Amino acid sequence: MSRSRLDVAVVGSGPAGSAAALVLARAGARVALVDKASFPRDKACGDIVGPRGLRVLSELGLDRPAGRDVGDVLVMGPTGRRVRLPSVEGLTYPGHGTAITRVEFDAFLRDAAVMAGAMPVRGRAEEPLWDGGRIDGYRLAGGQRIHADFVIGADGATSHVARSAGLVDEKKALWGFAVRSYVSTSVELPLIVFWEPAPWRAVPGYGWVFPGPGGGANVGFGLATLSDRTAGTRAARAFPHFLEHLSRHGFLAEAPDRSVGRPLGGWLKMGLIGTKPAAGRVLLIGDAAGLVNPLQGEGIAQALGSGRLAAEAIVGAPADAAGRYRTSLAAAHLPFHRVAATLQVVMAGRPRAVASLSRLLAVVGQLDAFAGGWSIFWNELLEGAPANLHRTVARLMTWAGQISTAPTSSAAWFADTLANGSRLRS
Ligand SMILES: Cc1cc2nc3c(=O)[nH]c(=O)nc-3n(C[C@H](O)[C@H](O)[C@H](O)COP(=O)(O)OP(=O)(O)OC[C@H]3O[C@@H](n4cnc5c(N)ncnc54)[C@H](O)[C@@H]3O)c2cc1C
Repeated sequence: MSRSRLDVAVVGSGPAGSAAALVLARAGARVALVDKASFPRDKACGDIVGPRGLRVLSELGLDRPAGRDVGDVLVMGPTGRRVRLPSVEGLTYPGHGTAITRVEFDAFLRDAAVMAGAMPVRGRAEEPLWDGGRIDGYRLAGGQRIHADFVIGADGATSHVARSAGLVDEKKALWGFAVRSYVSTSVELPLIVFWEPAPWRAVPGYGWVFPGPGGGANVGFGLATLSDRTAGTRAARAFPHFLEHLSRHGFLAEAPDRSVGRPLGGWLKMGLIGTKPAAGRVLLIGDAAGLVNPLQGEGIAQALGSGRLAAEAIVGAPADAAGRYRTSLAAAHLPFHRVAATLQVVMAGRPRAVASLSRLLAVVGQLDAFAGGWSIFWNELLEGAPANLHRTVARLMTWAGQISTAPTSSAAWFADTLANGSRLRS
């Protein structure tokens, strides 16, 4: 690639970076799509693209690659009680998600961006290049320099761009760590498991068994660690015990040690809090912006959506792209992230409280109205949900969350960081 100046350097070509590069390239921008990995590459994930992710793909005019449709979700509480959360078609999203491996999905998106005209560059962004007080590009490992008018940080939860641009407060960010493996056992419905390794001592997270795209299943376990980046190994250590728990409840056909391949782990940065999503000419998207849902760990839909919003802000309002992007993120994700992030801050260090809440959910979830409302609320599907009792319950949950989180420091952080956007839907 030539060393001449570009319009945009997108660092990271996961779902967020590829979506941004696709929109920019289609608008005629000169855009580099930089990734340290060579594609196709794997990524630790439950491999489920949710309904809003599918909506973004169809709005971008992309025929999604063939996956396995997944709808209703089974949740098992700590005592073994089960709840079925319905998945219902919305006014703006389908009534299902899709199971597809990240090897396939991420390569498909990156190919679409490259076909649209984005220039693929292999290399690790190592050192920011400064022009006066602003970042003007990156020097890649190996020495190549990329200069651009805008930099989009799409380099995942532990984003180097976010750190080097001074946009992340690591002590305030909400971290999680999750591991996953593949097993040959097949499952009909995606299963989520709230687990108490000891009675009334629940883990602040959950485990899962999700249908695999071609048979078999993706099995994993993740937990919230608040600001503690050293606690991730706890998830890896607990994983074998979690698999035994699954076997005891009949969800793994084979003994765990024979059925489980090598686990792959990864960080999640959740609920936006602690990361300023844009300043000057640097915009963060996807996990780099901390957009993972703090309640259920979904991040692909937010990655696709934020990639598109950042690209549209650069194309539509180059003089105030950061401000435009922050406002559209607030419109898309508040008040949900404020409520969900605060809930995580309050619960994560309290195993008894988590145990009480998950036991309660498993009981109240026997009511259809509550199960439907819970499904809409925690999947962040209220916007575009069809008018019915489930939506009313989800609205009540959101409203109660808004009222109870209004006086918190988290609410103040959102108001300060997202400025006017925070008033759009609160
Ligand atoms: C175990 C686990 C299970 C999950 N399950 C689900 C799920 O089922 N559904 C769901 O929606 N979400 C899930 N998530 C979250 C989801 O994986 C992320 O939200 C999603 O991958 C975010 O996409 P992204 O493009 O922002 O980042 P990523 O997909 O992480 O892509 C970042 C890219 O940046 C590149 N990169 C990093 N640093 C540099 C650098 N310095 N220079 C150049 N390139 C760099 C990386 O190679 C990578 O390709 C899960 C996460 C984990 C850890």
